[in-house]
Amino acid sequence: MFIYADNAATTKMSRAAIEAMLTCMEEQYGNPSSLYMLGQRAKEIIEQAREEIAAVIGAQPGEILFTSGGSEADNQAIRSAARIGEKAGKKHIISTAFEHHAVLHTLKKLEEEGFEVTLLDVHEDGLVRPQELEAAIRDDTCLVTVMFANNEIGTIQPIREIGGICRKRGVLFHTDAVQAVGHVPIDVVKDNIDMLSASAHKFHGPKGIGFLYARKGVRLTNLIEGGAQERGFRAGTENVAAIAGMAAALKEAAADMPAEAERMRGLRDRLIAELKEIPHSALNGDAVSRLPGNVNFCFEGIEGESLLLLLDDRGICASSGSACTSGSLDPSHVLLAIGRVHDVAHGSLRLSLGEDLTEEDVDYMVRNVKEVVEYLRSFSPVWRDLMSGKTPFIL
Ligand SMILES: *Cc1c(COP(=O)(O)O)cnc(C)c1O
Repeated sequence: MFIYADNAATTKMSRAAIEAMLTCMEEQYGNPSSLYMLGQRAKEIIEQAREEIAAVIGAQPGEILFTSGGSEADNQAIRSAARIGEKAGKKHIISTAFEHHAVLHTLKKLEEEGFEVTLLDVHEDGLVRPQELEAAIRDDTCLVTVMFANNEIGTIQPIREIGGICRKRGVLFHTDAVQAVGHVPIDVVKDNIDMLSASAHKFHGPKGIGFLYARKGVRLTNLIEGGAQERGFRAGTENVAAIAGMAAALKEAAADMPAEAERMRGLRDRLIAELKEIPHSALNGDAVSRLPGNVNFCFEGIEGESLLLLLDDRGICASSGSACTSGSLDPSHVLLAIGRVHDVAHGSLRLSLGEDLTEEDVDYMVRNVKEVVEYLRSFSPVWRDLMSGKTPFIL
């Protein structure tokens, strides 16, 4: 048995994406800046991809900028808004405590450069309260950046409402939608989004490519100096094959979305219901406003890392916290942000489901997670202290 349940970390490339890339690599190898036919054909491929991607999120092609991925798009969006704000004497930014590090670390840098950052509480359910956002907006606020869906606990923010508040108050709104694009419907116009980040490898496209949507009129700052590619806002010869692969993957994901999302929600909810039967466990994040494929639990009295290794032995790829934080001993900043204490946060498990998952896979995961949790608890000193009443249960 082999089950890949770590789709929030990265996804397997779709056949359509691979085919699109192969064609580019084997035949369309020209430089898009070259004037002869071979170069112009590569340019056409890029512009067609731009149109297809724009159409999926309700944007105009000219509003899509290709980047090396989600991290770069986040950096560029935030830096751009900061530059615009600085020029107007506005140096206050609002975000949340459980953003991806691409956002949090960029904000940290800006703080060192004299910006002030307010991080909103995401509460126990992992959701921002729009009225708290509204109250936090000041005259000198230049940017609100709130992620569309969280990469660890999968909670989906009330984006349209947040965007509406920002629009009303004249503040730029950026959303890191890396986990949402290709998985849930997004319309940048209806959702009042000024800037949005996405990454191909989270929706069955290749790694190392993503895009930044920036509404017409939002002046971008470039992070990389050089040639005039991407209208001068992102220098460097375009990764034509990856761009074509990203567009092919997104087109397919968007076409399959309603039916796939419905099926995934069904599997997700069954998995959640079954894992809840494990004593002293808790689902992390709201059960309803949640990505169709995200399941994230804390099990008291165990170490997430041990759980992962034993599940790996049984053919299940899962995660404990995000890939960026594993390898460090600090518990996930996301779980701490929703109020989990250190000991509980350490015993977390994220299963992020893929579109090829079956009912049998769910049964297999349920059986194995239950067995492994029980096994680990059987010799855990922490669990012994909990059972003997020496330390109180939290969950
Ligand atoms: C994966 C991820 C990123 C980073 O995207 P890369 O393309 O890997 O740089 C940013 N934000 C979120 C929410 C993510 O899940």
